[in-house]
Amino acid sequence: MAECIFCKIVRGEMPCFKMYENEYVLAFADINPISKGHTLIVPKKHFESLWEIQDEDLSAIHLASRKLAHAIRESLKPLGLAALQLNGKGANQVVMHYHLHLIPRLGGSPSLPMTEWEFKPGNRDAIRETAQKIAAAVK
Ligand SMILES: [Zn+2]
Repeated sequence: MAECIFCKIVRGEMPCFKMYENEYVLAFADINPISKGHTLIVPKKHFESLWEIQDEDLSAIHLASRKLAHAIRESLKPLGLAALQLNGKGANQVVMHYHLHLIPRLGGSPSLPMTEWEFKPGNRDAIRETAQKIAAAVK
C-alpha cells in the first residue's frame, strides 16, 4: 500500500520512535499519545483490520504486546495498561493498517471512557439470540 502511513514507517520512508521490531512486527511511539508511553504495534505486512490479518501476523502482534507490556511496566511503572484495537470506520479506526494500541494508565492520565462503562444487566433473551446468531456464523 503505497500511501499507507504505517507501511511507509515499516519501509523506513517515514521516521518513527521505534521501541521494538522482529520479522513480523514493528512497535513505535504514537505521536498523538493519549498518555505517556502510548505505543502502537503494527504488522510489517499491510492488513487493514482483524478481518484481514493472517494468523502468524496476529500471533506475532500479541506476543510482542506482552513483551512491550513488560517493558512499559518496568520503565514507567503504570497503574495499569489498556490494550485497544479498532476495526473499521464505525469503530473510529483512523489509519487503515491493523494496529494495536498499548496505553499505559499513569496517575493523572485522562480518562478512557471506553473502559468505564456502566454495568447494567441486559435483556437475556436478546443476548441469547445474538450469541446464537454469532455462534452459528463461526467458521
Ligand atoms: Zn499499510
